[in-house]
Amino acid sequence: MNVDQVLLERFGYSAFRTGQRETIESLLSGRHTLAMLPTGTGKSLCYQLPAYLLPGSVLVVSPLLSLMQDQTEQLKMRGEKSTAALNSFLSFQDKQRVIRRLSDYRFIFLSPEMLMSEPVLQALKNVRISLFVVDEAHCISQWGHDFRPDYRLLGGVRKQLGSPLTLALTATATAEVRHDIIRYLQIERVQEWIFSVDRPNIAMAVEHITVRNDKQKRLLELVRQLKKPGIVYFASKRGAEEGAEWLRQNGIGKTAFYHGGMEQEDRILIQQQFLNDELDVICATSAFGMGVNKENIQFVIHYQLPSQLESYLQEVGRAGRDGRKAVAVLLYTPGDEEFHSMVAEGEFPSDEQIKSYFSRDRSLAAADWADAVQLTDVQFRFLLHYADEAVRTGEGTPAEYVRNKRRERLEQKQKKRLYMLRWIWSKQCRRGEVLRYFEEQIGKTPDNCCDICGLNMQQYDKQYSLEKDDTLEWEAILNSLLRVEG
Ligand code: ADP
Repeated sequence: MNVDQVLLERFGYSAFRTGQRETIESLLSGRHTLAMLPTGTGKSLCYQLPAYLLPGSVLVVSPLLSLMQDQTEQLKMRGEKSTAALNSFLSFQDKQRVIRRLSDYRFIFLSPEMLMSEPVLQALKNVRISLFVVDEAHCISQWGHDFRPDYRLLGGVRKQLGSPLTLALTATATAEVRHDIIRYLQIERVQEWIFSVDRPNIAMAVEHITVRNDKQKRLLELVRQLKKPGIVYFASKRGAEEGAEWLRQNGIGKTAFYHGGMEQEDRILIQQQFLNDELDVICATSAFGMGVNKENIQFVIHYQLPSQLESYLQEVGRAGRDGRKAVAVLLYTPGDEEFHSMVAEGEFPSDEQIKSYFSRDRSLAAADWADAVQLTDVQFRFLLHYADEAVRTGEGTPAEYVRNKRRERLEQKQKKRLYMLRWIWSKQCRRGEVLRYFEEQIGKTPDNCCDICGLNMQQYDKQYSLEKDDTLEWEAILNSLLRVEG
């Protein structure tokens, strides 16, 4: 069977979307591949399809539980029974059962933490892995730098598994991030398939709101006015909870909040209700969305700015997956960016803590010292890693070395924040500026491109005349299909 036959017979699709064929053919010809395809295009197909043409199992490393769940559900709905997901949801017995039968599965989904666990790794060594996939691979760069150790170790594990054919998938990675992905995965020769990150059916707008108190009112106005369902992103968990409360109190009854601090069951419940159209609005932190494959999201509002343009694009990209027009509105109040700089500072050990580490009483174990000064795991790992590197390189005193590394990392994060801010204040086409960040040129701008190029917000109103809307939507769908298939 060739790829077109499998596409039709297994998946029921008559044509590939942007980048799918290239990625799949590159893998089938045995080349390690990094594929960057726009949000919502159907990245999963790039590993799902080859699974039916390759002899062994496909191992998918997924950064988030919700993503893993969404992928396994999708496969099950297609009648694929040979799927296992190894994550913290499984009871001890179920996990043992899956591990014992690992080589029977066509698809094995795993969190990076699970992949590092010794029994799982041992079991995987006896599995014929035809394809090693890292989904949302940009996380490797972000989390690798942020000292989530499992991401930094992926390359080593890949080697231990015999360096199988590898696919890294992402929708948003700058050249620098792509370079990190390849480095962390320790892949030698890679075929890169890079496609435009643009989603022409999503209009972009930024609204500057100078008085902080006006922001809630504006949010309510927008949510009342716009066609639903939609997502409102907040920078903090508390913000998401308060936002949902405010909307509910003001008549937007089918609203819920979602953030990483909630119990897993509650998160799944909310996500499911949203997918089933039982909720109109989700007030969420960035924890919501990866793997949420809901086609009819009409708007994404950012109540605060994201920390970087990559995150903005990921979050905005959850709208308009059905090809219909959707809108993204970012509400900016000067000073919003301070939240992210505070969070960034807290991710690393402070100068004081670095000094204290190197002058501590050596009879105290490092881990006990870290507990005593209340260092987070991430701060501690950062400290240990660079203290060790300092000794190996012999550059300056270890304390100086670690401090410099901390400064470098903070500067990198600040650079990303500044770019985000520049974008907010820019008078140039929003889409063009986003594309420029990803080293792309903008071609012809779509109608209703952005607030700078001109945007008729009424077209996104729930009252907007159906007839008018339908013609426009069909145009948008056709345009998007032509762009996508062409
Ligand atoms: P993402 O790129 O965001 O990871 P998914 O892999 O979740 O997207 O796919 C998004 C949707 O697109 C899914 O419903 C999937 O079935 C659908 N899809 C994928 N490939 C095709 C195709 N070639 N033709 C039509 N629909 C497709």
